[in-house]
Amino acid sequence: MLTAQDLDFDRRHIWHPYTSMTEPLPVYPVVRSEGVMLELGSGQKLIDGMSSWWCAQHGYNHPELTAAAKAQLDAMPHVMFGGLTHEPAIRLCEALRTMLPPNLECIFLADSGSVAVEVALKMALQYWHGKGAPRSKFLTIAHGYHGDTFGAMSVCDPVNSMHSLYRRFLPEHIFVPAPQSRFDGEWLASDIEPFQAALRQHHRQIAAVILEPIVQGAGGMRVYHPEYLRRVRALCDEYGVLLILDEIATGFGRTGKLFACEHAGIAPHIMCIGKALTGGMMTLSAAAASREVADAVSRSEAGVFMHGPTFMGNPLACAVAAANMQILARNEWPAQVGAIEAHFQAALAPLRHEKNVADVRIIGAIGVVETRRPVSMAAMQAFFVEKGVWIRPFGKLIYLMPPFIIQAHELQKLTDAVAAAVRYEAGFS
Ligand code: PLP
Repeated sequence: MLTAQDLDFDRRHIWHPYTSMTEPLPVYPVVRSEGVMLELGSGQKLIDGMSSWWCAQHGYNHPELTAAAKAQLDAMPHVMFGGLTHEPAIRLCEALRTMLPPNLECIFLADSGSVAVEVALKMALQYWHGKGAPRSKFLTIAHGYHGDTFGAMSVCDPVNSMHSLYRRFLPEHIFVPAPQSRFDGEWLASDIEPFQAALRQHHRQIAAVILEPIVQGAGGMRVYHPEYLRRVRALCDEYGVLLILDEIATGFGRTGKLFACEHAGIAPHIMCIGKALTGGMMTLSAAAASREVADAVSRSEAGVFMHGPTFMGNPLACAVAAANMQILARNEWPAQVGAIEAHFQAALAPLRHEKNVADVRIIGAIGVVETRRPVSMAAMQAFFVEKGVWIRPFGKLIYLMPPFIIQAHELQKLTDAVAAAVRYEAGFS
């Protein structure tokens, strides 16, 4: 049991994500997880609406995932990947080959989502070296989020990721406005014009386009029209530019398709995956590339791909991810995600008419309520905890992405809490 002294130590010495060390927001001690439940130190049980930031897709402590981890822990928790290989990595990559778009034949295992993005960017740069025509720019859209490392930050929304803070350290890339056409609305042909113009003007310098397909996550939880993605792919082909799709948040069923690019019926040259790859048990990511990309990278000056993290292909993480691929292959997730989406349509869509609500967006097991004013994170968080749910809003976004295994009555509790929150005036700043 944590004491007040422990929590004081935490406040004074431990940095939490995106927090100030001088005025940290409150943190809640959590002691146990099980299924969709998080248990606080106080004994209070919360229904989880976040899947720990897109990860715990089958809930916490899934027996098959923990069994895979325990077995691998006894056999070989870690070994270097340089000059060695092992069954967990091979089994995982075999499973990924059956799930990923078939052109993505060459899989690089990395440690976190941000690192997978760095790897993808480096692959694109080395690809052009291999072609004997180096290029150094990336083209992307506003409101993107690709991680917190420097390469990833350089292609995040310049305002959200505060490019100004890191000026001169961050390479400058090319940004165009994000599409306005909604996923479920009409396709506005003008959406593609700025992208097309940027490619026309700069294509000889552009190594790759990088995008989150269909759902832009942390940069605004926006959901855009599949036609945009189809046009992007066609223009990349027309101008001979690589396409990197960042499926780190959207991958493995969250949007109702195994990968969000399937909504548009397209595949990228390089895809980044992470988060739910291990079912949320531990960190693991990958960048999967086409054979053409891999061949060109291997022909580059270096003759090899210049990346090799210490924990690359960590057997423990690979074993858990391989077990997670087996759970996904049973194909229970489409019905689970479909039920969550139907519930969100019934319970969240009507909130559009609330005075404090600017918009509601729903796709698959993602439900987003955009408010008119920013929420007060601390006040809203306390409100949700009091209601027995774990929902962590940010900015003007209150959103749900629960584990797929959530039951109807638990889902109801989450959406009831969101409905109450948008009427809770003290929760807004
Ligand atoms: N890309 C996308 C689309 C993400 O949503 C995230 C994390 O939220 C990342 C990359 C970075 O992943 P990580 O936090 O594992 O480094």
